[in-house]
Amino acid sequence: MSVKQSQSVDDGVNAFLSQNSKTQLVTILGATGSIGCSTLDVIRLHPEQFKVFAITGVSQLSKLAEQVIEFSPQYAVVNSQEAAKQLSGLLQDSQSNTEILFGSKALCDIASDPSVDIVMSAIVGAAGLMPTLAAVKTAKRVLLANKEALVMSGELFIDAVNQNGAQLLPIDSEHNAIFQCLPNDFEYGNKHKSGISHLLLTGSGGPFRELPLADFSNITTEQACAHPNWSMGRKISVDSASMMNKGLEFIEAKWLFGMDESDIEVVLHPQSTIHSMVQYIDGSVIAQMGNPDMRTPIAYGLSYPERIHSGVANLDFSTLRDFSFSSPCKKRFPNLYLAIEASKQGQAATTALNAANELAVHAFLQEKINFTQINQVNDMTLQKHGHGNLTCIDSILEHDHLSRESAQAFVNTMIEAQL
Ligand code: NAD
Ligand code: MG
Repeated sequence: MSVKQSQSVDDGVNAFLSQNSKTQLVTILGATGSIGCSTLDVIRLHPEQFKVFAITGVSQLSKLAEQVIEFSPQYAVVNSQEAAKQLSGLLQDSQSNTEILFGSKALCDIASDPSVDIVMSAIVGAAGLMPTLAAVKTAKRVLLANKEALVMSGELFIDAVNQNGAQLLPIDSEHNAIFQCLPNDFEYGNKHKSGISHLLLTGSGGPFRELPLADFSNITTEQACAHPNWSMGRKISVDSASMMNKGLEFIEAKWLFGMDESDIEVVLHPQSTIHSMVQYIDGSVIAQMGNPDMRTPIAYGLSYPERIHSGVANLDFSTLRDFSFSSPCKKRFPNLYLAIEASKQGQAATTALNAANELAVHAFLQEKINFTQINQVNDMTLQKHGHGNLTCIDSILEHDHLSRESAQAFVNTMIEAQL
């Protein structure tokens, strides 16, 4: 077992490769999270087809150690030298040959390693941007769960995909559904050629779809994280409760499919059975349906254009009840509409909003601000940093940083006002 800062491809990779010449090598960024574990669940079903090349995680080191023992990746990456030593200690008694790396360069290295075929981008938040871009720039098949990376860098990200010949496949269930409902010859941004009227992005409305508005400021972190249909990480669960998640997905859909804001409509569908739809100009609507389980879009991303078993149970139509649809209320879900406005404003706005929201959700999860204050922090940060365009990665990272500073100042003021 060795612990070291990342270097370029190691000699050991060759030996590793020769054992797995027919399989596709997969790097999983954020392997210990909800999406990461679901990805490993699917890979476990197809050991001939996929082999784990590298896994990463920041905090749940015992889980990461278990994954190392089960999947024997070439590399495991953690955030710090201390974490690397801890992981090494956890693996001391195992027969593991996995090399342990740490730091942000290591994340980029295992995402861009020449031997890797597929990169699952499942780190939560802005921390996932640089390793995901590293995978894009080395023309991988990139399975994008980390919507924040695309929201914060938009056009730059898509340009990098096109310039480098990467294959970007959406894993977010809604975008994966839309991808499945589009015609095979769909041309990016060319909705007219394909006879598309618009995209219908569905969302359940989360746990507070019917909560009296007066109770919103008393929402607890446990209530916000208890999504009625999906089991997810804490940040995306809070985003789903505020519908900021649908706002981020609105921006994500715009970039993934090259649509205008007027081409995308958000529809509330509390049952989460239809994962999204495409409306065509002849009146047809094509929907993708299934049980709410991320292993379905993950399996499709891994095996596209073929289909493989995902472990998800078939939809049982005899048990489906109350298939309903409505429009999301602006008063109840102000974050959704803030995100749609930011999308119209441009890159500075969406970068600022993403940064503010990450910080505000973190403060809420630490019980420093209340649920409704998430929207206030987002709104104030957007007013301050929502203007202008960002055309290079340095300006995006700088804008992200400045927006976080402002959002933190707003959070601090709110905390002081409570004392
Ligand atoms: P999660 O919190 O369960 O897992 C996050 C992963 O990222 C963990 O492995 C964690 O160790 C890692 N991580 C966190 N901070 C990091 C940092 N600073 N540096 C490096 N690694 C870090 O989150 P999740 O629910 O799996 O979501 C992951 C991403 O997928 C998010 O962007 C989310 O929006 C998106 N997504 C999730 C779902 C879902 O059902 N969970 C659905 C659609 C999209
Ligand atoms: Mg989604």
